[in-house]
Amino acid sequence: MTRTLRTPNKRSCELCDRTEVWDEDSGAWRVASGDDGPRVGSLHCIHEWDINGSFAPFAGRRDAVEG
Ligand SMILES: [Zn+2]
Repeated sequence: MTRTLRTPNKRSCELCDRTEVWDEDSGAWRVASGDDGPRVGSLHCIHEWDINGSFAPFAGRRDAVEG
């Protein structure tokens, strides 16, 4: 059985433009690189994350009931 738990792999702050990407190896968010260097945004920002793409906790697939 394969679990289809979908998680976002990129997010950006709507307030300070901080951008992070998900690092599976370390299991943590890392600051993404921009054209002018890392997009760290503001250190004092509370960060209003805007998840790119359509984020859904679970894949929109109903479990198939097999007889
Ligand atoms: Zn922010």
